Amino acid sequence: MPEIINGNEIARVIREEIRKETVVMREITGVTPGLAVVLVGDDPASRIYVRRKGRACAEAGFLSREIRLPAAAAEGELLDIIVQLNGDPAVHGILVQLPLPRQIRTQMIIEAIAPAKDVDGFHPVNVGRLMAGNPGPVSCTPRGVMELLDRTGVDIAGREAVIVGRSNIVGKPLALLLLARHATVTICHTRTQRLPDVTRRADILVAAAGSPEMIRGDMIKEGAVVIDVGINRRDDGRLVGDVAFAEAERRAAYITPVPGGVGPMTIAMLLRNTLEAARRITAPV
Ligand code: NAD
Repeated sequence: MPEIINGNEIARVIREEIRKETVVMREITGVTPGLAVVLVGDDPASRIYVRRKGRACAEAGFLSREIRLPAAAAEGELLDIIVQLNGDPAVHGILVQLPLPRQIRTQMIIEAIAPAKDVDGFHPVNVGRLMAGNPGPVSCTPRGVMELLDRTGVDIAGREAVIVGRSNIVGKPLALLLLARHATVTICHTRTQRLPDVTRRADILVAAAGSPEMIRGDMIKEGAVVIDVGINRRDDGRLVGDVAFAEAERRAAYITPVPGGVGPMTIAMLLRNTLEAARRITAPV
């Protein structure tokens, strides 16, 4: 049987590390990391995410601010808020909860956030830094996947890594992070031919397609590390990943469950990005 990678436990340890680092930072520099989360509209899932983020900030000893706008808010209103937050010295991280309502151009809003405060790592400047291998905030979920691999002691250099999914928030940044750590990386997507032939090559297989249980046991190499980013709700209300867990368990050496694998790491990495942003912004030059 494989080792189940316990994302809840790893995320708990990281959050505790961040809490301690925050105490030290406040004692030495007087700075408390601050995160502002902006929520437009009242999408129930987004409301839950925002509440969780606020609670995680409080537990880490951060200051957190939640700013809510109605679903009909104009783009200009949201832009004004971002400009204010960009200039607010108590705010080191700004997160605009996605998706945004139709009347608001998402990319324009992302680009309005000061890159130094872009704790989601979505701003083109930060995407460029990642591409070039320079430090800067990195998208939380891919960063969480790397932490899971590292804290499980998985060797990355020289291994075949296959990612199923090429989104800007998961697949593509994760490919760059794995490449920077010397993996041989393949990205698959909906047009990939003979997907099982490709996934069976993977020493490290990451499923980030948003397609319930699409990775079957016979698509997995014996002894692979399988990381399931997918979160899908079945008709019966059950949460499942992109990997058929019971089948995959028979082939993998390490595997993440859903829930309790990658999911909890995303908020832990948001806290890590905010703490690092606070350090960078307030560090004496
Ligand atoms: P997305 O829809 O933006 O991208 C999905 C990608 O998968 C696309 O590139 C598409 O080409 C590819 N794909 C879809 N079906 C495929 C198939 N059958 N074969 C091959 N490729 C296929 O999704 P996303 O935002 O990257 O999210 C992916 C999944 O990860 C979703 O289930 C999402 O809920 C989950 N997610 C989880 C977290 C977390 O915190 N754990 C964070 C972000 C996303």
